Amino acid sequence: MTEAATALTARNRIERLRAQHGDGVVVTAPSELDYYAHDVFSLGEALLAVLIPESTDQLQAMIPELAAADIPMIARGGGLSYTDAFLAARPGCVLIDTSRLNRILEIQRDDRYVVAECGVTWAQLFEALEPLGLRTPYFGPLSGLEATLGGALSQGSVFLGSGVHGSVGDSVLSLDIATVSGDLLRTGAAAAPRTAPFFRYFGPDLTGLFLGDAGTLGIKLRVSLRLLEAPAHSEYLSWQFADAEAMFASMAELSRAALASECFGFDPLLAEMRMKRASISEDAGTMAKVVKRQGLLAGAKLAARGRGFLDTACHSAHAVIEADSKAALAERVRRARRLVRDGEEIPGSIPRALRGAPFAPPNTMLGPAGERWLPVHGIVPHSAARDCFAALQTRMLEEQACLDEHAIRIGFLFATVAAQGTLIEPVFYWPDSHTVYHRRRVEAGHRARIGEPEANPPAREQVARLRRDMAGILRAHGAVHFQLGKFYSYRAGRNPAALALLDAIKRELDPNGLFNPGSLVE
Ligand SMILES: Cc1cc2nc3c(=O)[nH]c(=O)nc-3n(C[C@H](O)[C@H](O)[C@H](O)COP(=O)(O)OP(=O)(O)OC[C@H]3O[C@@H](n4cnc5c(N)ncnc54)[C@H](O)[C@@H]3O)c2cc1C
Repeated sequence: MTEAATALTARNRIERLRAQHGDGVVVTAPSELDYYAHDVFSLGEALLAVLIPESTDQLQAMIPELAAADIPMIARGGGLSYTDAFLAARPGCVLIDTSRLNRILEIQRDDRYVVAECGVTWAQLFEALEPLGLRTPYFGPLSGLEATLGGALSQGSVFLGSGVHGSVGDSVLSLDIATVSGDLLRTGAAAAPRTAPFFRYFGPDLTGLFLGDAGTLGIKLRVSLRLLEAPAHSEYLSWQFADAEAMFASMAELSRAALASECFGFDPLLAEMRMKRASISEDAGTMAKVVKRQGLLAGAKLAARGRGFLDTACHSAHAVIEADSKAALAERVRRARRLVRDGEEIPGSIPRALRGAPFAPPNTMLGPAGERWLPVHGIVPHSAARDCFAALQTRMLEEQACLDEHAIRIGFLFATVAAQGTLIEPVFYWPDSHTVYHRRRVEAGHRARIGEPEANPPAREQVARLRRDMAGILRAHGAVHFQLGKFYSYRAGRNPAALALLDAIKRELDPNGLFNPGSLVE
């Protein structure tokens, strides 16, 4: 078939789907296609249509229809990743917005697992479990108000709970996946007859194959996640340090001792941005949530400390310590304090506010003066953190003239992941205009307060180049990446036998390369 004939067949197929499922499910309005073609940083190729299925059955019925017309399809959860992950690498793709696949199907208190559809957000799951005193071990990214289970499962994710429980994949028991023929592929022990999704391992681990697949092997419909009793008591600790080396050493100690559910740090610039963005005592929304979740005394502590407590010239580390009893908590806090050497303890207002409102609107995707924002990250073994950070800083010094010329600023977020790893996340800020994506995602009142800089394509170009450089430096220090999307290198230098197996699996599951083309190819 010629290109024009293929395009016509594809358009006819979309029209047929629209006739079957309606305008609310099959969307082709140009303004919508434009919005869905953006992530935080980039614009993808033009989309053919956006499908917003109302049920997993409806989605399963549509997939083979698309495949029969050779239409590539890309799943999108909350759309909060920023590595071209759900952007089309070529024209004519269909985006599948999973936000209506948002039912929590089963909370198994006795057997400690929960089954949910993959369009459920992390905030929705947390709120359903919290009154029952339950929680998943990893319980979401900071974008979890809108980010979905499916997005995190398909690209990896860390933050809430990661200090002790690692990344999202470590909490997964089984998956239900729609294949290109619309069949249901079930993983975990639940694939066996008469077996509930309560256990992951029963023979080879097929669940792991689909975790971090960037949505290239199928579309995730449902997941079963482990449940834990949510610890009843918590304390919030913060320290500031004279230098990054002392901060890394203390964070690694806390990580190895598995003491902090979250342990994260800021460099001076990120601390400055954080303090500018939210005067914690003035942030009524956060305060109300802290009082609701942690009690009046916690709210009073937060208010009393205001925002002058952190010296923004310092590196700082912040820890959420949890335990089942007051005595156990006191013991863990005592051990944490003993492990942090060379740090000056300061009020734990930042981790307290974080846990008061763990899922805030994603306003941090713009800087405090309306700047654009773009992170890049890697997770290195603790022993490599110091050298890796030093190499990133050397690169920044080499680029100082360029950074000054374009008013680009780079801050750093750090976090520990289980007992093994330190996440290093350089975060770029630069003055630049906002896109339709920012206008829809950031609260209107917040955007009005921070303002919008002029369009600045030269700075944007430099940020894209520097981000790539930084990813290369992280990789050169043995870093692993989540959110590979179409940005991070996956194949370069990887074990050939492992790649050959993955390619064979891809051919088996998706012979025509219709699921998220352009991902995991470099
Ligand atoms: C303000 C902000 C804060 C953030 N904080 C964190 C953080 O704390 N920790 C962290 O790890 N990340 C964070 N992120 C990055 C991002 O939010 C996370 O990676 C999140 O997991 C993305 O989820 P999503 O539902 O938005 O996925 P999307 O961006 O919609 O999709 C991500 C990838 O998953 C695929 N996908 C989505 N759903 C499915 C499905 N059902 N089946 C198959 N493939 C699917 C998509 O094709 C795409 O490749 C943050 C981002 C922002 C903007």
